[in-house]
Amino acid sequence: MIPAEFDYVAPDTLDEALSALSQGGEDAKLIAGGHSLLPLMKLRLAAPTLLVDLRKVPNLSGISRNGGLTIGAMTTHTAIANDESLGLIAEVSSTIADPQVRNRGTLGGSLAHGDPASDQPAILLAYEGSVSVTGPNGERTIAAADLFQDYLTTAVGDDEVITSVNYPALEGYGFGYQKFNRRSEDWAMVAVSALVKKASDGSCEDVRIGLTHMANVPLRATAAETALRGGALDASAIAAAAELAAEGTSPPGDLNASPDYKRHLARVLCRRALEEAAA
Ligand code: FAD
Repeated sequence: MIPAEFDYVAPDTLDEALSALSQGGEDAKLIAGGHSLLPLMKLRLAAPTLLVDLRKVPNLSGISRNGGLTIGAMTTHTAIANDESLGLIAEVSSTIADPQVRNRGTLGGSLAHGDPASDQPAILLAYEGSVSVTGPNGERTIAAADLFQDYLTTAVGDDEVITSVNYPALEGYGFGYQKFNRRSEDWAMVAVSALVKKASDGSCEDVRIGLTHMANVPLRATAAETALRGGALDASAIAAAAELAAEGTSPPGDLNASPDYKRHLARVLCRRALEEAAA
């Protein structure tokens, strides 16, 4: 498939990128790794008249620690997967597609795209992290809870660039990630992430559970979290909490899974992710 005709620029600075975006108007689009945008263009589901490539803009890649963790928006899935000190965030990146996609696809692109089947959005939500964006009116921070608005829709403006992704330091948390797909390179039918902090007596001091592809946006499994937080962290408590993983969700069915099957997957995967995180 061949995309519709478009113009292309690769600015050297963030200011030039912002100015190209605003001059290009509503049909201008940023491109990062291109692994979500180009397939849409080839299917003619997106037809931007101008692509503004971020690849030459400095200071958008890299991982830094400053109490919390800051990852540049143009950091690739491979760079993240290769840094084991990133724990859950690294493990999740290592499950994305295949090496070709991971070598080009970026964290910022994944979050800006707003695809409910993408892996990293639910992780940012569970961390209660944020993105830093820059636009014509300067910089602002968008909390993960406000970022994902609907299918392929986020709170990032058409004239804004995500520059970095911010995660608070979650000291002492174990993690688990369970992703169910037909083939290892496929998107998740459903995925569940768990972050668990044990108190000194072994009970559950805190728990965060992220759900991927259970709605048009990533979700937290709040009923399961509430059931576990502050209580025992043994096998039966985990099993009982996991039964609540799909509470309040109405997942859209798709070619791979009916809504009921997705709710079943959420419960099964939640139990395994919690067991991993609490081990
Ligand atoms: P692009 O495609 O370049 O851009 C995507 C969107 O984000 C565009 O609208 C663009 O304008 C916008 N954008 C990009 N960067 C920024 C920025 N810094 N600020 C503001 N807006 C920006 N992903 C998964 O999570 N899990 C999977 O299992 C998975 N499987 C895949 C399998 C295949 C075969 C393919 C082709 C892709 C798969 N992906 C998967 C998607 C992949 O991870 C993409 O790379 C990622 O979702 C988008 O990142 P990108 O850098 O390629 O973004």
